[in-house]
Amino acid sequence: MLTDLERKVLSFVDEDEVVRWTQELVRIPSVYRPEKGEAEEPAARWVEKRLKEIGLETHFEIVVPGRPNVIGILHGAEGGSGKTLMFEGHTDVVTEGDASQWTYPPFSAQIVDGKMYGRGANDMKGGLVAAICAIKALAQSGVKLGGDILLGAVCDEEGHMLGIKHFVEQGWADRVDAAIICEPEENHLCISQKGVMWVRVVATGKMAHGAMPLTGVNSAYPMAALLVRMRELEAEQIRTHGKHEFLGQPSITPTILRSPVHGEPQNNVMPEQTEVILDIRLIPGQSPEEIADRIRAAADEI
Ligand SMILES: [Zn+2]
Repeated sequence: MLTDLERKVLSFVDEDEVVRWTQELVRIPSVYRPEKGEAEEPAARWVEKRLKEIGLETHFEIVVPGRPNVIGILHGAEGGSGKTLMFEGHTDVVTEGDASQWTYPPFSAQIVDGKMYGRGANDMKGGLVAAICAIKALAQSGVKLGGDILLGAVCDEEGHMLGIKHFVEQGWADRVDAAIICEPEENHLCISQKGVMWVRVVATGKMAHGAMPLTGVNSAYPMAALLVRMRELEAEQIRTHGKHEFLGQPSITPTILRSPVHGEPQNNVMPEQTEVILDIRLIPGQSPEEIADRIRAAADEI
């Protein structure tokens, strides 16, 4: 059951505007194409304009040329909790690929049978506009919030996450107490997320001709031993931490195994180095420091 206050705020959501604004934003291509001088800035300017119209305090921060973050703040009532709830979104979209393969042009935001077609309509201009419209409804309703609402529309989510890293470096994250990530998750509400560690381990031996292995040190065997240990560590972590209600079990997955690390591989050359990348996914209760220590200890023992 909604309260009267919640009903009042919802009455300020203009559904046609949500759709119209999503179309407007999808029609601004924001694929990062430096060779063509294209990036997120026009989309970020559009977001900034909406936030200013709503009356938010706005910040436009250039992360790298052409790639800004936009931050908007709806201030809570004086003497409130001082807490901040964040809505997070990104302005970039992945490439449309071969535009001729699209049934509807990728940046047309055409609506057919009640569905909008366009690159970024789902991931995640629709979500970003929903957040803007939610804040607008809160602002227009005049409801007095106990804390601040902060909207962060960051760049480069699809690449190296430069936008959110900059957001953190600038200290914005320090004041955020909780966040709603407006990414599409097939209409599921996700209340937890796995952590990630990417670990690179390099075994260094001594290069030798394959016909004379005793003149060198093969880097493949210690790596093989390490991989066996990683599998044991994974099994132990699963035993200790079990299955999380929503996230399932933790994992340690070798994803890239490369030898030699540099130069041409050859049938008759024993490589000097072998490397592995471990993609480690964590669930609550696990300690990344402990896992890093265990990997270091295993490598030292081998
Ligand atoms: Zn996304």
